[in-house]
Amino acid sequence: MKIGFIGLGNMGAPMAANLAGAGHDVVGFDVANSTAEGIENVSSSALAAEEADVVITMLPNGDILRAVAAEVLPAMASGAVLLDCSTVDVNSARAVAAEADAAGVMALDAPVSGGIGGAAAGTLTFMVGGPDTALAKAQPLLDIMGGKTVHCGGAGNGQAAKICNNMILGATMIATCEAFALADKLGLARQSMFDVVSTSSGYSWTMNAYCPAPGVGPKTPADNDYQPGFAAELMLKDLGLSQDAAATVDADTPMGARALELYRSFVENEGGMGKDFSAMLPRFETRGRD
Ligand code: NAD
Repeated sequence: MKIGFIGLGNMGAPMAANLAGAGHDVVGFDVANSTAEGIENVSSSALAAEEADVVITMLPNGDILRAVAAEVLPAMASGAVLLDCSTVDVNSARAVAAEADAAGVMALDAPVSGGIGGAAAGTLTFMVGGPDTALAKAQPLLDIMGGKTVHCGGAGNGQAAKICNNMILGATMIATCEAFALADKLGLARQSMFDVVSTSSGYSWTMNAYCPAPGVGPKTPADNDYQPGFAAELMLKDLGLSQDAAATVDADTPMGARALELYRSFVENEGGMGKDFSAMLPRFETRGRD
């Protein structure tokens, strides 16, 4: 297939390289002039979109996605697919889908989980919103970039699934970290804490697979001085999107709201920027109740 790839950052570059490596003809554009192995760079989003069967975007946020979509949709062939893999707000995803529809282009929102490692290895999970016909066309590309695709329904539902998942993840990481800090103060060894919780009703992905305590459980960013992994500022972004969405539909999300507050102060005032999101544990260790 002929693919236009817009946004060749930490995630986009390895994803584009995997598509090129699988034999697809990939033309790319990034405002920062970044590139990826095996692709040809062009000088605008519109040029990358011309004649493409599928245009893939991997961009920082919804405003940028809307601006790029306004540029590429008029350049795209009718029946082509705009496949947005960025994490953006649900409203932007739905607005872009409506604009694509008006332009005779099929749109999918397909945010990912799996991070930079998953992007490089081609093992991302895609959460997809949009029509079946568009997904059928994009599926061979999703299969190269990822290991699993879940079709979540209509436009915006991929983003909805992503932010609901990450709202649970953020709140659960905080709960796991505060419990470890409490266990420390109660004199419980971390290994005992892990052995009990990971096999009891407090178990979770954050405890069992991504344990925030160094030297305990599987190897995680905690064992590498909290180098990300999944950076705290990306968790902050996703929690912000979850609370924006909750406000839009009048959903009561007190745990998500508190998780957003805690990650905001961690990233903005407590040295969390650039650290893995599990570095909440050393944050709690150094604090008392006030
Ligand atoms: P990044 O900042 O490394 O890459 C974004 C790229 O978009 C940059 O290279 C930037 O120059 C480019 N860009 C910005 N505006 C542009 C424009 N108008 N036209 C063309 N290119 C433009 O970010 P990333 O880590 O690659 O993340 C991309 C998306 O994936 C984000 O929405 C992020 O939330 C999501 N995501 C990231 C991860 C992760 O672990 N990094 C995991 C899951 C999802």
